[in-house]
Amino acid sequence: MGDQGKSALFPNYGRYPLALVKGEGSRLWDDEGNEYLDFMSGLAVTNLGHAPQSVKEKLNEQLDQLWHVSNLFHIPNQEKLAGLLTANSCADRVFFCNSGAEANEAAIKLARRYNQKVLGNGRYEIITFHQSFHGRTLATLTATGQGKVQEGFAPLPQGFVYAPFNDADAVASLINANTCAIMLETVQAEGGVITATPTFIKAIAELCEQHDLLLIVDEIQTGMGRTGKLFSYEHYGIEPDIFTVAKGIASGFPMGAMLAKEKLAEAFSAGSHGSTFGGTPIATAAGIATIETMLAEGLPARVAELGDYLQAKLKEALAGNSFVEDIRGKGLLIGIGCTQPVAAAVAAIHAQRLLVVTAGPQVIRLLPNFYVTREEIDRAVAIIASALAPYGAETVKA
Ligand SMILES: *Cc1c(COP(=O)(O)O)cnc(C)c1O
Repeated sequence: MGDQGKSALFPNYGRYPLALVKGEGSRLWDDEGNEYLDFMSGLAVTNLGHAPQSVKEKLNEQLDQLWHVSNLFHIPNQEKLAGLLTANSCADRVFFCNSGAEANEAAIKLARRYNQKVLGNGRYEIITFHQSFHGRTLATLTATGQGKVQEGFAPLPQGFVYAPFNDADAVASLINANTCAIMLETVQAEGGVITATPTFIKAIAELCEQHDLLLIVDEIQTGMGRTGKLFSYEHYGIEPDIFTVAKGIASGFPMGAMLAKEKLAEAFSAGSHGSTFGGTPIATAAGIATIETMLAEGLPARVAELGDYLQAKLKEALAGNSFVEDIRGKGLLIGIGCTQPVAAAVAAIHAQRLLVVTAGPQVIRLLPNFYVTREEIDRAVAIIASALAPYGAETVKA
């Protein structure tokens, strides 16, 4: 494993030296039969744990019925999932696609087309934020406020400007006659688990109102229960005009969705946008089972409770460790901010059979599934404390 010289794959991922072959609930096994406790959930995707029964049953049923027909036909599963999503959010309309980047691409296109075709004002510019992450297509990597994601891909599409996060005055100073939208994550997850303050989000919502801008919230990592609400904007008492989901929406079956208010419906008239695979009967079956399970079992509330427990336990266990700067995040999207790069510390945690991931160079990110138990949390915290102990000691010595 890990020897990319022998692989026929592009070397575009820095991979951990592990090949995982089986998963069940919070547990994963590698190709040598070693068991791991999974606190990354395939990057906030397998929110119901690995191979959840409710989704498996619905998928199996659908596999016997119909796999794919094209969006040239009505797809009852799409109607049903869109109904569930809109009944449980501020949105009225849903477009299904296959990934987060595609959902954000759709949001960007919708914002531009609404301004250009419906309002007829020609506006196109979108304000996004430093350290944001919105995807890897040309438009979404341009929306992403990180140079390393954009490097080598010039020329980038026009129409994006960047503001410092949590700084509403800076956003106000960027608004001009071409501005059509502001796009943000309420918790910048890939960017280092940086949470938006309530005053910032309120100010952004007010700026959108004042200047007639669309508010786009990227809920791809924060949505579908991850922060302790079904969608993270609910924490702030605001309603975005557009928001996007993917990652956890179908428990690991690839799917994304772009949701919006009714006024935006006519901007995506027939023929304006589309996707061959978007919302297939199979993908939407997995999505229906996922959200039905989440609602029936009140999982977002469980996430809030267990997230508080995990944060408290981490704070307690890491209190004396000088390598650790702070514990932050919302729900079960938690970052351990460190004073130095964390790559070696993450390897030490993996060596103790706990899977975690980074969020930028100096943050260890925890994303357990929504059924995680207190016992599993205690075990994970003990491993993290033990793996990080030598780093804290070293920093003290230096
Ligand atoms: C993962 C992620 C994306 C990109 O999703 P893909 O499915 O990888 O295209 C976009 N925005 C946020 C906030 C993400 O976490």
